[in-house]
Parts: sequence; C-alpha cells; structure tokens
Amino acid sequence: MVGSDQNNPTLVGLSREGLEHVFATLGVPERARRMRVAQLWNWLYARGTTDFDRMSVLSKDLRAALSQSHSLSRPEIVTEQVSADGTRKWLLRLDADDTGKMGPLVETVYIPEETRGTLCISSQVGCTLTCSFCHTGTQPLVRNLTPSEITGQIMVARDRIGEWPEAHADDPTGLPDVERKITNIVLMGMGEPLYNFENVRDAMAIAAASDGLGYSKRRITLSTSGVVPEIPRWGKEANTMLAISLHAVRDDLRNELVPINRKWPISELLDACRQYPSLSNAKRITFEYVMLEGVNDSIADAKELVRLLAGIPAKINLIPFNPWPGAPYKCSDWEQIEKFAEVVNRAGYASPVRAPRGRDIMAACGQLKSASVKERASARRVEAVAT
Ligand code: SAH
Ligand code: SF4
Repeated sequence: MVGSDQNNPTLVGLSREGLEHVFATLGVPERARRMRVAQLWNWLYARGTTDFDRMSVLSKDLRAALSQSHSLSRPEIVTEQVSADGTRKWLLRLDADDTGKMGPLVETVYIPEETRGTLCISSQVGCTLTCSFCHTGTQPLVRNLTPSEITGQIMVARDRIGEWPEAHADDPTGLPDVERKITNIVLMGMGEPLYNFENVRDAMAIAAASDGLGYSKRRITLSTSGVVPEIPRWGKEANTMLAISLHAVRDDLRNELVPINRKWPISELLDACRQYPSLSNAKRITFEYVMLEGVNDSIADAKELVRLLAGIPAKINLIPFNPWPGAPYKCSDWEQIEKFAEVVNRAGYASPVRAPRGRDIMAACGQLKSASVKERASARRVEAVAT
C-alpha cells in the first residue's frame, strides 16, 4: 500500500499545466511529462481513483513520490441528507486557512429526475450580494472556492452516487450503473460565480474536458445575478450555457430584489445577453424568475417580460419561491403561477415551472446557507460561557 497523507495538497482540480508542474518538481524528465500528465489525468478525472496504488500505469517509485507530496482528497463530507424526493444535499468542509480555525462549510445538491440528473454546485462560501429573497444572501462572503474545491464537489457527488467506471469493484452496494447519473452541472449553489471568475473558469475547463469529467459545455450552466462586464468575458473564455437571475421587469423593483441592478440595470444586462456568443434556438439563455406573491407575479409583469426578451433566444424558468426562516416573501399561489406561465407560453417561450425539489432538507434554490454562521455563533457562545 502506498499510503498518502490526506493533508497533503490534493491533485484534484489541477489543470494539465498544474500536473505538469507537479511532475517537474518530482524530477520527471521534460520529455516524459506530457505522457505522464495524460495518464494521471485519466486516473484522476475519468476514473476518479482515490488511491495512488491503483494507478498501475505509473511506476511504483513515481506513485510513492506522488503520494508523499500530494493526495487525491476531496472536500470532506460533514453530512449527507436525502430528501423524500431523492434529492441529496451534502454539507462539505473546505480547507482551513492558516489561522488554525476549522475550514468553512459549503453545500452541493444533486437532483435526480427521470431523464437527467443535475448537480448544483457552489462557487463561494456566502455571497457579497444581498438579493432580498435569497437565503445565501444573508450570509456574508467568507471566501471564494478554489478550483480544487469546485471540481471536488463533482468528484464527491460521483463518489457518493457511484458514478465511476469502476465504482462497483469497490462498492457492491452502489446504485446500478445503468446510465450516467449526473448529466448536467449548474452553478446555482452558494455564491455569485462571476465574482470568482478564474477559479470557476478553470474548474469548468476540467469539467468539460472530454477525456476527463466529460460534461459538454451544453450541459454546464452558469447562473449569474447580472455581473454585466463579466458576461462577455465568460462567453469568450468558457462559453457554457448561461442563466440570468432576472426576477423583475422594472428597474425600481429589481433594484430592491437583486441590488446589483443599481450598478447594471436591466437594459445593460439584456444587451450583454444579446451579445453572448453563438446564441440560437438550440443555445438559448435561461431567464430565472422567482415567483413572489403580490411582488412580481402580475399578468402585466408577464407581458412586460415577454416584451423585454423579444429577440433573445430565451427560455424562462419560473421558480416558485422557496421559503426560509425569516424570509420577507410568500410564494405566489399555484393558480397565479399558471396564469403567468400561460402568458409567457403564448408568446412562444418555453416556460417550465421549476418543481421545488428537496425543500424538506432545505436543499431547494435559494435555501442554501451553510451552518458555518450558526456554528461560529455557537462557538462564540461556548467561548463566552467558558471565559
Ligand atoms: N448567484 C447566482 C447563482 C446562485 S442562486 C445567481 O444569483 O444567479 C441560483 C438561483 O436561485 C438564482 O436564480 C436565484 O435567484 C435563485 N434563488 C435564490 N433564492 C431563492 C429562493 N428563496 N427561492 C427560489 N429561488 C431562489
Ligand atoms: Fe448571491 Fe445569487 Fe443569492 Fe443573489 S441570488 S444573494 S447573487 S447567491
């Protein structure tokens, strides 16, 4: 057994260049590095290996050297909750900083459906923005996730649902390996991904590599509240599918619901959308619209929405508001959501109403808020009692 210290820096999340650098530091001659990288890449991302010892293609010495300097560790699972509807939520602990405090917590959600399985991943712990209907928005930004931690969420989910080619050799109790279980990746967890641009971009490059995790860019969606200047850059450097958290059709209301609108109003946001690369009927932008009773759910709002989006290849995703403790809104009633959807449908837009999933485990959109805040508060209470 080649033992590896889990505290060593992980190789998960490293790009090809990063891996090449690791081999250089281990003294692998330059001419052999590319081939070694290709081999390691395959074991890391196509097979999900968690043990250096299984990488039989690498020499014993090289495996030993790798395991002494690095690990294959993923973010640690603190809890795994399974909803009555099959949705799974993992609370993950990230690496600590050098102050010696425990690492922060972040959430990842897996939503199985009949024809696909969506993994909703986080890009930040907390968020700098404060959308008034979003639970994450009540948690101040703790820090950005690293590429390792962003990629690591996909690896953890695949580990847990047994989605590696060799999963069953290790775990005969895993789910049947009939078809691919995670078909889509959405950056709709905690945080604003465009405010952690480089790390999210680098992680998505690994997710999209056909000889790695292998999700086509058509199956990766970045959701943004509207960081307008970063939208063309994302189009150029990553060009995944795009979702826009619109939620209101007038600037006065959007200023309130999605305060970033004060900086970049609706017209600027929609201009950036119009210019997003290679838009077509097959590649449409999703507009997310949370249904808040008496706030943004009138028929006049629906008509204005249709008018605003004219000319943009678009899908409209109506999201029933998911409540959280202390939230200042109520979800629109079902009848109103249907009437709203009908106006949008009649105008020729697909407008699926996103069925709330995993509400019983607080895993639905906008309910994520890691317990780190609560945990810090209780630690303070403990300290207060102890002193
Ligand atoms: N920060 C990014 C991505 C994370 S939020 C963004 O804002 O787009 C993912 C989606 O969930 C967004 O559309 C967000 O507006 C929506 N959302 C947030 N809180 C919600 C809630 N309580 N109920 C329903 N949807 C919510
Ligand atoms: Fe942040 Fe998105 Fe929540 Fe707004 S909706 S607070 S941008 S996570």
